[in-house]
Amino acid sequence: MSFRYADIILPLAVRGRFSYSIPDELAERIKPGVRVLVQFGKNRLYSGIVCNLHNEPDGIKNIRPVIEMIDPSPVVSELQLRQWRWISDYYMCTEGEVMKAAMPAALFLRGETGAPVAEKYKPRKETFVELASGYSDEQLNGILDKLSKAPKQAEILSVYLRMTGYTPGSDIKPVSKSLLLKESKTTPGIIEALSKKGILKTASLEVRRLKDTKDAVEPLRELSEIQLAAFKSICNTFKEKDVILLHGVTSSGKTEIYIHLIEEQLRKGRQVLFMLPEIALTSQIILRLKKYFGSLTGVYHSRFNDQERVEIWKRVADNDPLTGYRLILGVRSSVFLPFTDLGLVIVDEEHDGSYKQHDPAPRYHARDSAIMLALFHKAKTLLGTASPSIESYDNVMKGKYGLVELKERYGSINLPVIILANTREAYRKKLMVSHFTPELLQSIDEALGRNEQVILFQNRRGFSPYIECPECGWIPVCIQCAVNLTYHKGIGKLVCHYCGFKRDLPPRCESCNSQGMITRGFGTEKIEDEIKIVFPSVRVARMDQDTTRGKNAFDRIIRSFEGGRIDILIGTQMISKGLDFENLTVVGVLNADNLLNYPDFRAHERSYQLLEQVSGRAGRRQKQGKVIIQTSDPNHKIIRLVLRHDYPGMYKIQAEERKAFNYPPFCRMIRISLRHKDRARLNTLSDILGNDLRTKFGRRILGPEFPVISRVQSWYIKTILCKIEKEKPAVKARQLILEAIERLEMVKGASSMRIAVDVDPY
Ligand code: ADP
Ligand code: ZN
Ligand code: ZN
Repeated sequence: MSFRYADIILPLAVRGRFSYSIPDELAERIKPGVRVLVQFGKNRLYSGIVCNLHNEPDGIKNIRPVIEMIDPSPVVSELQLRQWRWISDYYMCTEGEVMKAAMPAALFLRGETGAPVAEKYKPRKETFVELASGYSDEQLNGILDKLSKAPKQAEILSVYLRMTGYTPGSDIKPVSKSLLLKESKTTPGIIEALSKKGILKTASLEVRRLKDTKDAVEPLRELSEIQLAAFKSICNTFKEKDVILLHGVTSSGKTEIYIHLIEEQLRKGRQVLFMLPEIALTSQIILRLKKYFGSLTGVYHSRFNDQERVEIWKRVADNDPLTGYRLILGVRSSVFLPFTDLGLVIVDEEHDGSYKQHDPAPRYHARDSAIMLALFHKAKTLLGTASPSIESYDNVMKGKYGLVELKERYGSINLPVIILANTREAYRKKLMVSHFTPELLQSIDEALGRNEQVILFQNRRGFSPYIECPECGWIPVCIQCAVNLTYHKGIGKLVCHYCGFKRDLPPRCESCNSQGMITRGFGTEKIEDEIKIVFPSVRVARMDQDTTRGKNAFDRIIRSFEGGRIDILIGTQMISKGLDFENLTVVGVLNADNLLNYPDFRAHERSYQLLEQVSGRAGRRQKQGKVIIQTSDPNHKIIRLVLRHDYPGMYKIQAEERKAFNYPPFCRMIRISLRHKDRARLNTLSDILGNDLRTKFGRRILGPEFPVISRVQSWYIKTILCKIEKEKPAVKARQLILEAIERLEMVKGASSMRIAVDVDPY
């Protein structure tokens, strides 16, 4: 059956799909999932994805035709189109925005009418050499005999034969020309001579940009008794539940269990998606996985270039067990890869906030989207963590998810001893050395004395969060954002962490003109500086956003630490998760207070998770580790809970608080942010929207209010929060909100406003 119209998703933030007519010559060939070139607006050309074919002209006059079909077969599967639809519905964005996040940028073509539009992805080509035809044994010997007068030619031919492992009658295998030249130590002229004689020929062939590892495949390690019990329990529970939470203390061997589950899926010929919250974690785990699964394993994250990403995309879609990826290790965006037959999704560190994308749309949660993806594939999801998110644990309590627990570290190593170091007291007694308590310094000293390694955690990068005039209290702020500028000593500048604005240090106060601005608070850079002063002969390195910009920067730091070339590693939350270092025995948390006092309803939950997580890096192999937490409030209830590793206690307290104050997971939260460069217009517009929403939702609407950071990049921001009961139909609520926004968009002055909806904004 052939259709006359196609609905097309275009990479735009405009709501809805777009209908185009199908020219006769494409009618038989066009399918959902192929890219087509269409005109949009006056003269713009875009590639879009066909999502639906039909015969209803939708009452649109002057419907435009599809200009060209770019792909002979779909690049996006029907299942992906369903996934995009779900994400756009649930997270209240356009399908075009989902498409932009989902597909590698090189697959998007654009141009203008009248000019040709070229494909951006270019397969990499290389020159190969092969036999000009299939020779028999005798013929080959004859050729070699004849070449005895041209020994270099004979040599290159035998090297070629050796490299291909050629046997007469077998297929002719091409060999990379550059490799052949290297192996035979000859010049291109010799190959040319053999080509002229019709013995060899050359051809340009497509090659992969991402080289396969040739690691020997190792047998899996045997699971311990406790791990095996957990493994079996997971398999059994999957018979009843689609999602299981694996709550296992740090270093209990969760990854080892994942490896066994992966192996089982691959044996069945199904694909596995293994998600991690942070690129920094992929390099260690990929080595572990490749040992067992070799070239079946692919990695996906934003550090790959556009061309490489297209290749990964294609290899995930490739069903051939020899050339396709069966196991993908990836961050957030890997949930959008074109899996053909997913059997299992593993979301490691499921509690991690990095799984949520805040900007731009789609503002999706990769864990929740992964669970949906698994359901589309009739696959299972395993969420792993040492400190579950409140919402996942709540789903366990409600019976929605299964629960499997691992309460012991592998090898019966004890969880680390946690020591609280009271900074308030140490300051009072003048015992602090820079930002270090005596307890911390002593523990570092002891570890170094035993040739062991140390990690110091501080959740702020830069030298100091702000500088201040000691006379009048003036603080330099960003010219575009309502935030203090952070001092970065290495580059000698003040930097805005919201927009990247940089300026020189003011030599004098710009308010009272007095000299001697002073630094306040401390970030990783300052800790690095000062630890070098306290321990001058020690090798110190820092891992944060500033030191890991290059493509291989993470790997370099992690390898150096693993290789024992760093004694003390200082870092932000980047070093708190998932890493496994043999010789690391002491972890110091410089300042737990700024975690606990963060203005967010999740601050306590997040602090617990972070402290549990960063402690978990210590003492993972032979012996028990030690963690020193510096705080001015050692009696804080969250700190007491961390001390006892009492997750259920933490959940109980949090659940009670959130029920009492109506926070997720006991309500649904949708946040609308409005931005405008004119503060007064913003106030008027946000009031209009707030009042409109209140007519439908009443007291469920909070705000509009200025958020903590009320201006970013010259845009003033106001937010409206909707808290909707879990029992109320969410689809209806979203619809009402969208309608209210559409009404607001008609109001005068609204065209220069930006509006963003964030569903589950936490
Ligand atoms: P988790 O993911 O729970 O933090 P890991 O899987 O990283 O824990 O295991 C912690 C350490 O114990 C790792 O160094 C790992 O190699 C080792 N380990 C765990 N299980 C086994 C096992 N069954 N056999 C050998 N070593 C193991
Ligand atoms: Zn700024
Ligand atoms: Zn001043």
